[in-house]
This record gives sequence, C-alpha cells and structure tokens, in this order.
Amino acid sequence: MIKIEFSLAVALYLILTTCIILLALVFKNRKEPKQFSSEKNFLWQCSICTYVYIDSRYTSMSQCPRCGSYNKKDGVVTSS
Ligand SMILES: [Zn+2]
Repeated sequence: MIKIEFSLAVALYLILTTCIILLALVFKNRKEPKQFSSEKNFLWQCSICTYVYIDSRYTSMSQCPRCGSYNKKDGVVTSS
C-alpha cells in the first residue's frame, strides 16, 4: 500500500472535488448558448429607431414599443 500523509490526502480530495465541480459548470455553460439561440427568434430590432426588444409572439410582423412602427422579420416564412 502506498503511504501518504493525511494533509496530502485531503489536498488530493479537494483538488478532485474542485475539478469535478468545474467540469460540471463547463458542461452546463455549453448548453446555455443553445437555449439562447432558440429565444433569439423573439428578439426584434426596430428598423426605424434601432431599438432592440423582445416579442414572444411568433409572428412575421411586430410593433416597436418605442416608436410604434411595424417591423418585418427577415428570413422567416409563415404559412398564414
Ligand atoms: Zn422603433
């Protein structure tokens, strides 16, 4: 059996635990950009006043809350 000191054992345990927590955080952060890209469909930028706002209604047209002008979504094809 390999003989190690108690302080070394504690240090190794802490290093391993920290590595596992950091790895878990890294994998958790990797999933977040995917969720953001799905919410990106609700993100609108006004073509008149360049105001960026969120409209959760998934439509091809949206009204700017600041200046009241209507904005059309580029690249979005709706069947209705
Ligand atoms: Zn506007």
